[in-house]
Amino acid sequence: MEYDEGILRERMDDVTLSTAAEHRHMMTLHCQQCHTVLADSHGVCGEINSMGCIMCISVTNDVVVSVVMVSGRKRELVDCIFSALQCNSCHSVVGKVIHSAPSRLASIRSIFLLHKANINCYILDSSSMVKASTLTFDLKPLTDSITKMRHKFDAQLDHMLYIKSRLADMSLTSTFTLSSFCLQQFA
Ligand SMILES: [Zn+2]
Repeated sequence: MEYDEGILRERMDDVTLSTAAEHRHMMTLHCQQCHTVLADSHGVCGEINSMGCIMCISVTNDVVVSVVMVSGRKRELVDCIFSALQCNSCHSVVGKVIHSAPSRLASIRSIFLLHKANINCYILDSSSMVKASTLTFDLKPLTDSITKMRHKFDAQLDHMLYIKSRLADMSLTSTFTLSSFCLQQFA
């Protein structure tokens, strides 16, 4: 069966991998006091501006969760129970982890919250160390990316259906031509 390879090749060229679409700086997050690596950009999942914290789903083994649990009494931390996060090397407090919180803060329970004021960032692209307070760690809502991907898949599906119909047409034409040829031969 014949098909137009040109169409397929052209389409494959159009398909761009989305990994580079939402460019984010690759970086490591360091203790401001002793420069120990505490996390990296792969573990960062957002920021809480009102608390001045970077949200991380993972941190290095040099982040120690204090065994002392504190009951929050001020502002955002009212009715919360949390522990301080300490740098394993210099023992300075670098953040907190909330164990228990009202529903309004449910999304940050058990997330490592690093205080921007205590963190420096080493940006790999530019090989530069900057204060975390000079950067933003807001992530675009996931729904935006999902919608964008869905549109891409829909477009690819449409194109595949188009190619399928073209192939079906060609197949019919070939069968018809072959049948005509046979009839002519045996007429
Ligand atoms: Zn430290």
